[in-house]
Amino acid sequence: MQTQLAEFIKDTDIGREADAILRKCVHCGFCTATCPTYQLLGDELDGPRGRIYLIKQMLEGAPVTEKTQLHLDRCLTCRSCESTCPSGVAYGRLVDLGRVVVDQKVKRPLATRTVRWALRELVSRPKVFGAAMAMGRMARPLLPAALKEKVPPQRAAGLWPQAKHSRRMLALAGCAQPAMMPSVNAATARVLDTIGISLVEASGAGCCGAVRHHLDDHAGSQADAKRNIDAWWPLIERSEVEALVMTASACGLQVKDYAHLLRDDVAYAEKAAGVSAMTKDVGEVIAAELQAIQARLPKDAPPRQIAFHAPCTLQHGQKLKTQVEAVLLAAGFELTTVPDAHLCCGSAGTYSILQPELSMQLRERKLAALSAGGAKAIASANVGCISHLAGGTDTPVRHWIEWLDERLNG
Ligand code: SF4
Ligand code: SF4
Repeated sequence: MQTQLAEFIKDTDIGREADAILRKCVHCGFCTATCPTYQLLGDELDGPRGRIYLIKQMLEGAPVTEKTQLHLDRCLTCRSCESTCPSGVAYGRLVDLGRVVVDQKVKRPLATRTVRWALRELVSRPKVFGAAMAMGRMARPLLPAALKEKVPPQRAAGLWPQAKHSRRMLALAGCAQPAMMPSVNAATARVLDTIGISLVEASGAGCCGAVRHHLDDHAGSQADAKRNIDAWWPLIERSEVEALVMTASACGLQVKDYAHLLRDDVAYAEKAAGVSAMTKDVGEVIAAELQAIQARLPKDAPPRQIAFHAPCTLQHGQKLKTQVEAVLLAAGFELTTVPDAHLCCGSAGTYSILQPELSMQLRERKLAALSAGGAKAIASANVGCISHLAGGTDTPVRHWIEWLDERLNG
């Protein structure tokens, strides 16, 4: 696609990066058919090709309105379109850049700005979020249904084994997950312990930065990344850990992107590249240790049917399309067929709060797809997807590592 960026943007970092991405798009429209918001709304401007066109026009100096902002806001950043695109267009990066520019040109109403600020400050701070979740649980019986489902009942973490092995890996605790599902990292620690790997968390690390990044606070997101690198670096430098394990696929995607996000930062670029290179989703870690896991599985465990929802951040963002499924099959689970498995469940970070109607429609479709094969249990790989799906069904929804932990350790 030919571009002629306007003076205000063409010699900036954003302009140069966006221009390179735009030029790769040949406007074929293959991506449109796999876009969840296009499927729901049927409007070209609510699909990837239309949004790319809107961003191009904006960067070429065309007038920008609330309508432009709305079409970009409605995008889930699920990156299903990237998986489909034959030309390798980095749509996710482009829409991030487009949102920064549209927010500079179109001021949001005060109420919207307040909600976005509150989400940034609440969700990305583990202590504040933990306190809010604790209060929410106390008031849960009185909450309206829509709010109640955002406050999942407490699930005990269970035992975290002592760090006794010479092989060690580092886990990110994150921001929302410790308050919502402390059981996920604890289950990971137990599974790894059975194969001789100790999992540790570094004090001082916190939110990966994805919350701020997707609410267009890129400076705040970089500060989150630097704080985490500072917390992890002493352990990495002394070679005390062999990998950084991510149990929330959205966090994994963000940390794998630190190398790109901090590439121009003199003090952090090299460390960020090192951190990204050793970051692995827990599915990658377990897939590499599969023989050891299988050797420890109880021989008499009956097969169990399960429906797996691969989060967009796993399948489209990190391009990990088979690892978790392979682990679950090897561990004796029967995976049911899930139609349209490439489509988003509607959680998408803070999307379920900012775009509730679209989010609920996507959840209904996803739950129908997940139940199509008759599974009595659902597994996923990201805290946001798990809590979002669990809010709409009585079928138990858990992180797949928790199902594997249950199978291994009872
Ligand atoms: S993003 Fe890719 S698939 Fe979509 S219109 Fe552009 S080139 Fe075609
Ligand atoms: S990221 Fe997802 S919602 Fe956004 S344009 Fe691409 S496919 Fe559609």
